[in-house]
Amino acid sequence: MPGQYIDLHTHSLISDGSDTPAELVKKAAQQGLSALALTDHDSLAGLDEAEETARAVGVDFIRGVEIAVESDSEELHLLGLWMPRQSTRLRDALALLRRQREDRNQAILDALRAKGIFVSMEDVRAVSTGEAVGRPHIALALVNRGYVTSRKEAFDRYIGRKGEAFVPRTLLSPKEGVALLRDEGATVVLAHPFLSHVMTRERLEDLVSDLRAWGLSALEAYHNAHDAYHVRLCFDVALRHNLLLSGGSDYHGANKNGVRLGVGKGNMRVPFAVLSALREHRKNKGLQA
Ligand code: AMP
Ligand code: ZN
Ligand code: FE
Ligand code: FE
Repeated sequence: MPGQYIDLHTHSLISDGSDTPAELVKKAAQQGLSALALTDHDSLAGLDEAEETARAVGVDFIRGVEIAVESDSEELHLLGLWMPRQSTRLRDALALLRRQREDRNQAILDALRAKGIFVSMEDVRAVSTGEAVGRPHIALALVNRGYVTSRKEAFDRYIGRKGEAFVPRTLLSPKEGVALLRDEGATVVLAHPFLSHVMTRERLEDLVSDLRAWGLSALEAYHNAHDAYHVRLCFDVALRHNLLLSGGSDYHGANKNGVRLGVGKGNMRVPFAVLSALREHRKNKGLQA
């Protein structure tokens, strides 16, 4: 399919995006994207609606999810693509991750209160739209209560890694995260390797040798935060470690200004061939694609 583009990393209001799953798929169709994956954080709750809409509007849809893992006290993100429709084990595992989010959210609100900043869980719930609630929602609650003027300020001053009320979240190890997705028959992608400013080529090479042994299949080379240099680095590392490529905008609707579906900050394009290669790989492994 020459000249056709796809987006394999997007968020709906089930986690911290602003579009409903159906709206997201319709936007993809309007933009002429030929394939889309919905990859909400720690939740599969938007997938059925998105899949149904995709069938109606003729978009090739891939059921996805995004989870965070912790490596050397840095957070890494993994995407699972082709997530199964029914799996009790997976449902339980994601429910536990969401419960750990809730515990962490409460701990952040407690830390804020100790500083004289009063935001309640009700305030947070009032601005959250789905089942995976996190810091982006706390940030909005802080804006709404007038403690900060922007979500960025909320992260910089209070809830970001260097903020006064930062509390870490309990995360899986990279090995556990990869295994959780891979054991469900999903294709595991290391998301946005260069989003973190501490990532280097050397670090990435070390990391992917481990991750690949545990079941990683692809690197997300195309992403809104990757410039042409990062994309090339990902190509190189993928080639050297026998990994496939993936790519997506990490669109969050109105919740992430300046990041657009299919094109990221404007110049990202993920060719359809990326999806074809992932599918080919799955077929060779006897997995549904
Ligand atoms: P959580 O999953 O609850 O730890 O929240 C993480 C999310 O918060 C990330 O996926 C980003 O969307 C958002 N985020 C993290 N750091 C910042 C920041 N400095 N400014 C704005 N948003 C951020
Ligand atoms: Zn997000
Ligand atoms: Fe991410
Ligand atoms: Fe994401």
